[in-house]
Amino acid sequence: MAGSKSGLPDVQLNLNVRGMPLSATLAINERSAELAKEGRTVYRLGLGQSPFPVPECVVEALRANAFQKDYLPVRGLHGLREAVAEHHRRKFSIECSADDVLVGPGSKELMFLLQLVYYGDLVVPTPAWVSYAPQAKIIGRHVRFVRTSVDDGWQLTPEQLKNLCELDPGRPRIVILNYPSNPTGGTYDEGELEALAEVANDYRVILLSDEIYGELHHDGGHRSIVPFYPQGTIFASGLSKWCGAGGWRLGLFVVPRSLRWLLDAMAAVASETFTSTSAPIQHAAVRAFQGGDEIEWYLVRCRRVLKALGHALHDNLSSAGVTATPPRGGFYLYPDFSAHADALASRGITNSVQLCERLLQETGVAILPGVSFGRPATELTARISYVDFDGTSALEALASKESDLSVDSDFLRTYCGRVVEAADAIVSWLES
Ligand code: GLU
Repeated sequence: MAGSKSGLPDVQLNLNVRGMPLSATLAINERSAELAKEGRTVYRLGLGQSPFPVPECVVEALRANAFQKDYLPVRGLHGLREAVAEHHRRKFSIECSADDVLVGPGSKELMFLLQLVYYGDLVVPTPAWVSYAPQAKIIGRHVRFVRTSVDDGWQLTPEQLKNLCELDPGRPRIVILNYPSNPTGGTYDEGELEALAEVANDYRVILLSDEIYGELHHDGGHRSIVPFYPQGTIFASGLSKWCGAGGWRLGLFVVPRSLRWLLDAMAAVASETFTSTSAPIQHAAVRAFQGGDEIEWYLVRCRRVLKALGHALHDNLSSAGVTATPPRGGFYLYPDFSAHADALASRGITNSVQLCERLLQETGVAILPGVSFGRPATELTARISYVDFDGTSALEALASKESDLSVDSDFLRTYCGRVVEAADAIVSWLES
């Protein structure tokens, strides 16, 4: 009979999620921390965590609300849902009210709830963030990966969406869109969003538009797809990326009226699982979504630094024959090392896991393999999160420049030195 020495059921055999490892983003973060603790030099470009501090006015709001101790409504604090609705109406022309908003402990958890309550295939254009597909797998949903190509800027084309829907037009589906993209840093322009929305509308698919990096569009020019397909798009965002508050765990969905039944079902499951999101954090988040000059000034500087750093990284790697689409938002770059395939093969590297493992061992640069983003194992792609620098000093230095907000290579070497060094280390490693 299967069982351990203790007489209890064998742990492995009785697991529902047998063989499921820790999520790649969190695993690389923990591994990097361990290596650093052992005294190794590690460039932590694995986890995608904002390098910038939470804006002071939002931290102040959290301090002032530390005493809030009561459970809050399952859907979220009413004042926060109002602030969220107003913010997204103002910024992205999303017509919504507090009743359309659902707050949760991270948008990741809300995505899981959505998949749990909605019976349908999950369509994931790859490369895609590491957790969409594993969530579907945990719940037992079918995942349809759609491979995008570097020639299309790693973006889903309307033709690809149409071809997929045509295979079985009546099938219930949730289609993931994520832009600015994790992991590529690319984004869609207005015409592209409109064309995708038209196909989504024709086939009545539910779009899950993960726009959590929207405010980090490097030129502040993010457009949402919601106005092009308002009745079928669920909008996802949160505080983690633009407000530097990943560890605060506050995410949100804006769900159209036509899909209120989905929001209600998610709220029912939330009420039986996490109950409600942390009260002090929700009260503080009201301040974040109210916005204003201090927050806009913070965002302007974050974008400047990220844009300059992303481009410097891109240029450096390109000069070594590594291809990548230039980033336009967020803090990721998705290089393709295939131009070095022969040289890498002669060093015993034939897939993206080996590539990242050897890079980490031999240079201390921690990045994530393309296979974690749903790409074929032998494709030599990887994600770089260019976040290993002190964002507080970088923002202060930029503020002290007053009218001149240009970020040049000296600035990057001074304030984002570890990322610049890591890129140099990758280039020398390739050339060695
Ligand atoms: N979204 C971040 C990333 O892709 C980190 C958080 C997470 O994966 O849960 O690295």
